[in-house]
Amino acid sequence: MNFEFSEEQRMLEDSVYKWATAWLEPQMEHAYEVDEMPPTLFKELGNLGVNGIVFEEKYGGAALGYIETLLVYETIARVSNALSMTVGASQTLAFDNFRRNAPEKFKMEILPKSCTGEYIGCLGITEPNAGSDAMSMATRAVKKGDKYIINGSKIFITNGPVADFMLFYAKTDPDKGPHGISTFFFYPKKQKGFSVEKIKKWGMRTSPTGLITFDDMELPEENLVGGLNKGVAVLTSGLCTERITLSGCTLGSQRSCLELSLKYAKERVQFGKPIISFQSIQEKIANMYTGYLASKWMAYSAAAYCDTLENKSGGKGTDLDRMAAAALLYCGEMGTKIGLDAIQIHGGYGYCQEYAVTRHFLDQKLWEIGAGTSEIRRMIIARELMRDDFRSGK
Ligand SMILES: Cc1cc2nc3c(=O)[nH]c(=O)nc-3n(C[C@H](O)[C@H](O)[C@H](O)COP(=O)(O)OP(=O)(O)OC[C@H]3O[C@@H](n4cnc5c(N)ncnc54)[C@H](O)[C@@H]3O)c2cc1C
Repeated sequence: MNFEFSEEQRMLEDSVYKWATAWLEPQMEHAYEVDEMPPTLFKELGNLGVNGIVFEEKYGGAALGYIETLLVYETIARVSNALSMTVGASQTLAFDNFRRNAPEKFKMEILPKSCTGEYIGCLGITEPNAGSDAMSMATRAVKKGDKYIINGSKIFITNGPVADFMLFYAKTDPDKGPHGISTFFFYPKKQKGFSVEKIKKWGMRTSPTGLITFDDMELPEENLVGGLNKGVAVLTSGLCTERITLSGCTLGSQRSCLELSLKYAKERVQFGKPIISFQSIQEKIANMYTGYLASKWMAYSAAAYCDTLENKSGGKGTDLDRMAAAALLYCGEMGTKIGLDAIQIHGGYGYCQEYAVTRHFLDQKLWEIGAGTSEIRRMIIARELMRDDFRSGK
């Protein structure tokens, strides 16, 4: 058992943190106010070499693991939880899932552009009437000659308004229920037959979220990914790595909430003393530290386990499914608690928009909802605990 990061991992963390504090941080207050992603974000990350961390070198990636992916997302989130989510939605949800399931020809065409930052990706599962119950999706893909005609809509799509690439799911054989779902991709900036509406949110501002409506959108047959009616296998193959690596978004905010609160509590003087000298403030700080450390090891141990597996798809009946759901469940709920404590320590100033701690707090709540809600994660964990072959201790 080794709880230390390697020298290479520390160097990776340092280079991303240096970039995040020098380039990203000075823009964040304004970007959050106007709710806009810095337009060159992905190109910056391409120059840093962290866009395709787990991709093979032939695609322009760094051929590293999910521990490193988690570390990069945590480090970006120390400055912006929202933009770390935007990066994760592109690189892990869209492109990594595509890498696992798409034909080589398209991977060679698309993945190198995702690594340089030329392409931003998004993934469309959720629909206005199909959230937790994703299998009840209503988007249809009907075969007509050598084309598919797509109708329907996808909601809450991270990066939808700015994406160059979209991976999404649609019913190709509705009578077969979950066995009649297929996966498709297309290039939104070159495609007709769909529209995008930006959704206004009170948190996760700067991360663009869209409602995407397909209106007789025509796609060539070759844009089908992973085989006809095999969409559920594609969809589930990305959920565990998504839950593990996106835990990094909340970890980064937890860490910043702790650091900012510690600094503020040492500086802020009331009743003639720094407020850190009050026991009730110390109690909050101690709880924040303990919660962050526990969250960190939940997430990194799941990532380390994932990195040892040949097949990282997870799914029903795997330890990975339970560990990934537990990691994000714990990190997400702890993130909200730590965010609330940080606001309380900052008093009235914590209620003002220009404070970084407020942005972290507002962003944190998403992690009890996105990537499957806390309720759904508990259902997954319980389902796997009820397996006859479950042995406690893992
Ligand atoms: C900022 C943001 C970004 C997002 N990004 C993406 C993205 O990039 N791509 C994408 O496809 N989706 C994305 N989502 C969608 C997200 O995954 C869904 O919001 C989430 O899965 C919940 O679905 P819902 O909002 O429809 O809630 P619902 O499913 O309607 O749930 C409402 C409530 O009911 C509870 N509930 C539902 N079913 C059960 C049950 N069986 N037992 C107990 N409780 C239950 C839920 O836990 C929740 O508390 C994003 C959402 C947000 C807010």
